[in-house]
Amino acid sequence: MGCNCIKEIPQEIVEHSNTLADFKKTPAMSAKFKDLVFPFKDGKVTTALKTDVKIKCENRKTPKTTSVRFSYCPFCGQKY
Ligand SMILES: [Zn+2]
Repeated sequence: MGCNCIKEIPQEIVEHSNTLADFKKTPAMSAKFKDLVFPFKDGKVTTALKTDVKIKCENRKTPKTTSVRFSYCPFCGQKY
């Protein structure tokens, strides 16, 4: 993995959350991204973010869903 954003950004969110009045009675302890995948790269397990894509279909009220993995970190731009 080229960057530490997947680990560092949730830590920053916890720190920021604990400055807010809303978290005074129930302080934030930890946070993590919900949409992580663990692709193999050069024989090692890595971590990357993914996002869901809703596919609207003919004759169907609810969309079908698939997901795509980001090739680059959406925060700093480094290639995964
Ligand atoms: Zn990054």
